[in-house]
Amino acid sequence: MLGALDKLTALLGPARTLTGADVSEDDWHDESLVAHWHAPDIVVLPHSAAEVAEIIAIAREFSMPVTARGSGTGLAGACVPRDGGILVAFREMSGILEIDVENQVAVVQPGVSLRELDDALRRHGLVYPVFPGESSASAGGSVATNAGGMRAVKYGVTRHQVLGLEAVLGTGEIIRTGGKFVKATSGYDLTQLIVGSEGTLAIVTEATLRLYPRQPHAATVLAPFRTVAEIAGAVPRIVQSGAAPMILEYIDMMTMAAITAARGLELGIGTAVKEAALAYLVVVLESRDPVRLDEDIESLGDLITTLGALDVYVLPAGAAAGLIAARERAFFAAKAAGANEIIDTVVPRAQIPEFLAQVSAIAQDTGSMVLGCGHAGDGNVHLSVFQPDPERRERLLRRVFEAGAGLGGAVSGEHGIGTDKRAHFLALENPAKLALMHRIKAAFDPDGILNPGAMLEPSSEATSAVPG
Ligand SMILES: Cc1cc2nc3c(=O)[nH]c(=O)nc-3n(C[C@H](O)[C@H](O)[C@H](O)COP(=O)(O)OP(=O)(O)OC[C@H]3O[C@@H](n4cnc5c(N)ncnc54)[C@H](O)[C@@H]3O)c2cc1C
Repeated sequence: MLGALDKLTALLGPARTLTGADVSEDDWHDESLVAHWHAPDIVVLPHSAAEVAEIIAIAREFSMPVTARGSGTGLAGACVPRDGGILVAFREMSGILEIDVENQVAVVQPGVSLRELDDALRRHGLVYPVFPGESSASAGGSVATNAGGMRAVKYGVTRHQVLGLEAVLGTGEIIRTGGKFVKATSGYDLTQLIVGSEGTLAIVTEATLRLYPRQPHAATVLAPFRTVAEIAGAVPRIVQSGAAPMILEYIDMMTMAAITAARGLELGIGTAVKEAALAYLVVVLESRDPVRLDEDIESLGDLITTLGALDVYVLPAGAAAGLIAARERAFFAAKAAGANEIIDTVVPRAQIPEFLAQVSAIAQDTGSMVLGCGHAGDGNVHLSVFQPDPERRERLLRRVFEAGAGLGGAVSGEHGIGTDKRAHFLALENPAKLALMHRIKAAFDPDGILNPGAMLEPSSEATSAVPG
């Protein structure tokens, strides 16, 4: 009888069925700071949904876990290979199948990067507005993590842009959901169940994505404040003003120093202001009309001044692009500085000051340093945790997540649960909801082979742990 490797090789050929030294080290890991790295047993490179369905059939026959992998930029250890499993990598399914200008949608394969998609859309004057900090992220990975990024405050997150999917279930069945339309009230919304499911319900083989007109003009305002709390207090006022910011971020003083130093960025902030500022607000407005943009920037500047900014700078284009790029690389600056963990708790935006006050007390209590920045407009606070002792760090994380949950928030706003945050998610989530999630997973993936251990416990462990 043929083994799983023989069957996969017969299906895809040796060039697309990789083992041992042929597996790239890139496929061992994502960008998590804590997940366990190791070589996948088998990496396969499918070309179609039909091939993915065949891979699933082989995995079912041999009871092998199957983990989908996009670009491995995830921060939660969600696509790390499972022991004895198959890693399905999508680098050979990375096409843009269609840019439909009339309907303002793109139809893409899962392996295309968001950068490649953005480059292609620019030529049509269109934009796909999901910009997670890492533009090498794949369409499939960003769908599976429900990626957010800086522009979510204006456009929403991935789930607001995914109009339809082609996906392979854990049964090997291929389904199509949604289509090139923004509304449908026709049965359960399977698209939305799959978005954000971290590869545990289905493998995405095609996505239909919503596009928007690309605004040609943008301006960036940088405003230093005395405290993060003042910024957090200003954010709801800016949103209420109707300015419709495309980006609304806060960066604490230490993080600002690290990210600007990493890029050698000079923003022209005077020494006295620098010394007084403990945090910075960054607001980007966009428009199709440059005169209108100037007017909007002026009234935004006035508003920010009345909200307590120490100064307001409208950055020249080069410095503005440099600052946004530096903010996107904040994770790597924190990693280089020795951060032990990165978290992205979300709370209602008006609760950010209370949340940060609690985080600061928890950090002090546990002898840890916690620094950060965040998508302030979305209440999504990104914290770099400096605490080398794993037990203390886990205690700190639990208390931080409890604080977020206590304020009406959630463990992760956009990075996902993966394997890293699973224990905290399970401890804090309602048992009835967890039991329902297991029943949903069982309906999509009856053998529990799709990315077991990400987000939920593997089904074998779950039956005893979760009532239901
Ligand atoms: C510097 C930096 C900044 C970042 N900033 C942000 C940010 O601002 N906002 C944000 O949301 N994220 C951010 N991220 C996290 C990351 O970029 C996103 O989570 C991204 O969407 C992951 O895409 P990926 O292709 O790398 O997915 P991977 O890491 O490869 O996989 C992520 C998950 O998706 C699953 N998956 C992948 N492909 C498929 C598929 N075809 N079908 C089903 N499941 C699949 C995997 O199994 C895994 O569970 C950042 C990461 C870095 C390194």
